[in-house]
Amino acid sequence: MQKKYRAIEFFSGIGAFSQVGHEYGAQTIKAFDQGEDANCVYRLNYALEPCTRNLDSIKFDQIEKSDLWWMSPPCLPYTRKGNGCDIEDTRAHSFLNLLELIPQILPDRILIENVPEFKNSKAMHRLSETLKQNSYHFKKFDLCSSQLRAPMMRRRFFVVASRVCQIEDIELNRSDPDPLSLFLQDEADVDPSLYLNSDTLNQANRMEAFDIVDLKTKRLTCFTSSYGRQHKASGSLLKDNNNRIRYFAAEEILALLGFSKDFKFPPHLTNRAKWRLAGNSVDTRIILLLLKASGL
Ligand code: SAH
Repeated sequence: MQKKYRAIEFFSGIGAFSQVGHEYGAQTIKAFDQGEDANCVYRLNYALEPCTRNLDSIKFDQIEKSDLWWMSPPCLPYTRKGNGCDIEDTRAHSFLNLLELIPQILPDRILIENVPEFKNSKAMHRLSETLKQNSYHFKKFDLCSSQLRAPMMRRRFFVVASRVCQIEDIELNRSDPDPLSLFLQDEADVDPSLYLNSDTLNQANRMEAFDIVDLKTKRLTCFTSSYGRQHKASGSLLKDNNNRIRYFAAEEILALLGFSKDFKFPPHLTNRAKWRLAGNSVDTRIILLLLKASGL
């Protein structure tokens, strides 16, 4: 039988790690997040209640012993949209606090996800120093969902660290993306409110803000947490076979991120709330590659 690893999912959101970790023997024993909507979703799908303790100030004796830490800390401190203040940004405090706890806890493995800009940040420099000082092997990876047959761009930066073995390389098989239709709901099931009315369309067309694609596309724009709120660079819109234009459902975005068909949102969440959660989440196929690279 496969050995079981006790994992902690920090910044758990809607639980991309818990979607797939079990495939490599990881069992999530604890999740941490302060988002109310995210925690409703998490509880519904994984029968585990995330802890709402603020990670800015959590102490080492408040964290269970485990074999693996998965972290996808807030990314705004590193992006232009978030003003790029890096470790000076208060939203980076939680990550820096957890870094300071590593020498006292020393989990065997640590896996981290963030935006591409994190790679050259001061936060990354601190992470490298912490990992080196505590005898971790580690590797950095730039990966995009489009390299994993998803017809969608989503570039992210990842770090895989282990104290117990060397980190393997990640090999990608180059192949054509899967057809978009594979990830879409049946037309009859599409929520009517996802279709755009002509006023919104005309207004956005004047600003050339939308990326409108048809079913043949091989490259959707990356869906961000601003999808539905901001038109520019926040994700594509679909022109269907009847030339109607609509938003992608959050469930379709999650299918593109490799989430299971059994994944559910609580019925009270609005589309905007669901898009925000989906836009913050992680490509689960990449998590599987990281787990393999970590020697599990
Ligand atoms: N990986 C997650 C999403 C991460 S987004 C997923 O699979 O969906 C970052 C998350 O960190 C958000 O859900 C936010 O609520 C949470 N967060 C940000 N700062 C926090 C803090 N100080 N303490 C606890 N959670 C925090």
